[in-house]
Amino acid sequence: MTIPRLNDLLGQPLAAASLRQVAGGGRPANAYLFVGPAGVGKGTAALAFACALLCERPAAGGDACGECPACHKSAGLQHPDLKFLFPVSGEEKDLEDTVAETLRGLREEPFFAFIYEKAASIRLSLTRELLRGLAYQPFEAARRVVVVRDADRMREDQYSAMLKSLEEPGSTVWILTTARPSRLPATIHSRCQKVRFAPLPEALVRDFLTEKAGVAEREARVLAALSGGSLARALSLRDEEPLRMRDEALALLEPALKGDGAALWKASQGFMKFGRTGREALRRMFEVHQLWLRDLLRARAGAGREALTNRDREAEIRRQAERVEPAEIRRRLAVLEEAIQSIEGNVTADLTVFSAMARVAGARLGEGQWPAHAASRWNY
Ligand SMILES: [Zn+2]
Repeated sequence: MTIPRLNDLLGQPLAAASLRQVAGGGRPANAYLFVGPAGVGKGTAALAFACALLCERPAAGGDACGECPACHKSAGLQHPDLKFLFPVSGEEKDLEDTVAETLRGLREEPFFAFIYEKAASIRLSLTRELLRGLAYQPFEAARRVVVVRDADRMREDQYSAMLKSLEEPGSTVWILTTARPSRLPATIHSRCQKVRFAPLPEALVRDFLTEKAGVAEREARVLAALSGGSLARALSLRDEEPLRMRDEALALLEPALKGDGAALWKASQGFMKFGRTGREALRRMFEVHQLWLRDLLRARAGAGREALTNRDREAEIRRQAERVEPAEIRRRLAVLEEAIQSIEGNVTADLTVFSAMARVAGARLGEGQWPAHAASRWNY
């Protein structure tokens, strides 16, 4: 079992340094809020911080020793003074199994990722049980650590119930994590010390994929570029064959470039698979196009092969880059950005695909009269 340590945190030097300082100082605050995008290591950092706070023989510099019995128990999520809450979906009667299964996954799978359904929440029954337990002294350590993952997935009454413990100096240290801080009530924010986590650098995600996750270099490049600095996102996209995904996405543009409206409309509907293609896949398709265009811009600016995301198709990129002005590439990027924004709105997805491809190609397809669709939002 790997003991998560603050020294080993990936790409978060500021957060790691400040947490080491707190752990080494021996006087932690009552509550910390780890804020940052999903998949950049907040959860790992929370466990590493918990290990450091519960360690029996902390290393110089404040980190966990990684060897003592407390470290092993914390890393295995079996330390009696470490409480770990996280959102789950499913029925209340299956709660125990769901929690046990998640913990097993977390212990056994090296790249375990929490993926939530929309309605996933931190269950009321679990927060009640936790708060009851806080009335007692810690069992083994000098303090108790409570980690609440994605703490924004709770109800108002749960936050109210937690407030007293969050502000009362005592033997409990709370570590809350969130990628959506605006969903947490101000009363929680004001009681927590904030620790910020940044998106991971693209090169770091790429190197992790090739060195630790066994992903081939050219795939890792596309994944890292699509990840938005989130390792969890890169890992979850890995199963979707990123190069095939890229080729499919780019093929959509072909009928638009030929000015064939009927074929483009058909291709757009085909891509949407009669409504079965989700927003996430749709967004990714546009992002793939953006990566391609960014490569064209880089090529125009004289960048070398090293700088290209799609370097496995370098010749094609250089050929295309010669034929299109930077201003035009930027216009296309803006069209795609707008299309990504509109996915969040209430638009008809196949129309979004059609309109974006047509506009990227500079084709005035369908202008004015076609396709006549009640929900269409033409905006040429
Ligand atoms: Zn230790």
